[in-house]
Amino acid sequence: MDFDVAVVGAGPAGLFAAVGAAERGARVLVLERMPSPGRKLLVSGSGQCNLTHAGSVAAFLARYGQAGKFLRPALYGLPNDALSRFFSERGVPLEETENGKLFPASRRARDVLDALLRELDRLGADVRTGARVLSAARTASGLEVRSEQDRFEATALIVATGGRSFPKTGSSGDGYAIAAGFGHRIVETAPALTPVEAAPAIFSFFVSCAGIALRDASVSVFRSGRKTAAGRGDVLFTHRGLSGPGILDLSRSLMVGDELRVPLAPSAPPREEVEARLLAETASHGKRTAARVLRDFGLADGLARALLAAVGVAEDLQAAALRKDARRSLALALSGGGEGGMRFPVAALGGFDEAMATRGGVDLSEVDPKRMESRLVPGLFFAGEVLDVDGDTGGYNIQAACSTGYLAGRNAADRKS
Ligand SMILES: Cc1cc2nc3c(=O)[nH]c(=O)nc-3n(C[C@H](O)[C@H](O)[C@H](O)COP(=O)(O)OP(=O)(O)OC[C@H]3O[C@@H](n4cnc5c(N)ncnc54)[C@H](O)[C@@H]3O)c2cc1C
Repeated sequence: MDFDVAVVGAGPAGLFAAVGAAERGARVLVLERMPSPGRKLLVSGSGQCNLTHAGSVAAFLARYGQAGKFLRPALYGLPNDALSRFFSERGVPLEETENGKLFPASRRARDVLDALLRELDRLGADVRTGARVLSAARTASGLEVRSEQDRFEATALIVATGGRSFPKTGSSGDGYAIAAGFGHRIVETAPALTPVEAAPAIFSFFVSCAGIALRDASVSVFRSGRKTAAGRGDVLFTHRGLSGPGILDLSRSLMVGDELRVPLAPSAPPREEVEARLLAETASHGKRTAARVLRDFGLADGLARALLAAVGVAEDLQAAALRKDARRSLALALSGGGEGGMRFPVAALGGFDEAMATRGGVDLSEVDPKRMESRLVPGLFFAGEVLDVDGDTGGYNIQAACSTGYLAGRNAADRKS
């Protein structure tokens, strides 16, 4: 046997799998198709790497939709505080932001990757780059992988090839074919954590708002007039639509044609309250311009102007001259609660080239959550985003990759002959 454990993919899942296996004394080989490892890790969190999140493991589980239950053993095995300790003990202390995200204090994803690679070097794992695995199969005594150049045999094989998003970092979906080759079912994949393109009829008024962010907005999703989802988080205007955590986290429950309702006033007061305030304003400060009135509601200048254009009100119109229907439209756009929020129909969702994660993947019912081992093929393991797991923004995806990787690695090592 060439190696005890062969790992396909050197992202956070594969690297942590290798650490878990090598710590147990296994002879580990990591095969990475790109010329260097961890390319997605390096671009994560805009190059700063939001590695994980603060909070209890129980709170974590709610951030992965249906997959939370499956992740339980992995997350309890390597929880956020253990991950944080792993890096601080290796010279990369983490720092928490005010909204609970954990980053390396240096704000350099490179430091996270380097610490992992140094650890693997120390443990004697063999990491080979430029080695794309094309196929894998069972042999009489274990499993074999074939790359473009070589063939290796190992007692256990860990598939950690990532999903389909950001394919330029190396994750183009190869792992699904490898898994399917062993008889695994693949849940249909789609982009997750992806920005929204808004219908131009309305959004054309907001194009100039690109770069403006609404802090901690409560966003609702309506489909055929019925509310189907809701979330909270920062919302960022882009040139084509909306992004930011408040939109990305909701994107997994969005379809083209849905309507996003986004309160534009920071405190998202109820509609009746906004209308009453607008009315009082027209009575007591009738000479103020409509733009000034909106700024008093806390809107950024550019956003105030865009909103007025969208409802057909001149920005220098005096408050006293605001007609009832315009007041109503403004109140609706500014307010939160039931009916409130500016309405942006979804024209398109960002594709895999823009998505930060992949929905779908290796069917969880065919993988043992306590070991990350295939229920169909003994010795075959899966870790990270190749699984049907996707989490919210905020560090949940890298944490899931590291935790599932570590669990897979430790159990794969136990199979060594
Ligand atoms: C722009 C961006 C920003 C992000 N920011 C964050 C963040 O701040 N926090 C967070 O928690 N998550 C973030 N994510 C998500 C997170 O990076 C991923 O969920 C995580 O990297 C998944 O880890 P993985 O190891 O499963 O897969 P990947 O990181 O995709 O690694 C898989 C590896 O396998 C290799 N590979 C694929 N096929 C083969 C093959 N046939 N042979 C050999 N090697 C192969 C790939 O080249 C790749 O290196 C971000 C994602 C993107 C795209």
